[in-house]
Amino acid sequence: MNCLDYQKLIPLYLDGELSAEDQQKIDYHLTHCSACQKEAKAIQEIWEMLGEAPAIEPAPNYMARFQDQLSRQTPLRRKIMDFIQRTWTPKHLVPALAGACALLVVGIFSWQQYQVQQQTQQLLAGLNNGGLDMVQHLDLVENFEIIQQMDFLEDFDLIEQLDTLKT
Ligand SMILES: [Zn+2]
Repeated sequence: MNCLDYQKLIPLYLDGELSAEDQQKIDYHLTHCSACQKEAKAIQEIWEMLGEAPAIEPAPNYMARFQDQLSRQTPLRRKIMDFIQRTWTPKHLVPALAGACALLVVGIFSWQQYQVQQQTQQLLAGLNNGGLDMVQHLDLVENFEIIQQMDFLEDFDLIEQLDTLKT
């Protein structure tokens, strides 16, 4: 063994972790080799310095609080499941369905209103395109609701009949 081999073992020697035989070998080498003696001394000094440094103690209950915080962390998957369960229980589903139905009804009603509006516009357009004479002839205000309920362009004849019936 050369000095380098001995120096590698010095920390173990100082810690008393070598076999009695190796311990003795190094002990003997150190008494005869000043370089290795220096090395051993340097290591020992460093260890003593480290030993003097105050050990950092965690605050009391630190581990307990840490474990507590850790246990309170809910995994993402469970968070999602909880959310779905909270949101889609039948209790919550009923108002949601009711809301959807209400929207549907409003939608249909609006669509019908729109259709009536469109028919009225068509009717008025038809009137403007040559039907004006007839409008003057016809009491539009009185018969407006009837006109509104019919497709004017298709039931042109009917209105004519209505008109003749009146006069
Ligand atoms: Zn040596």
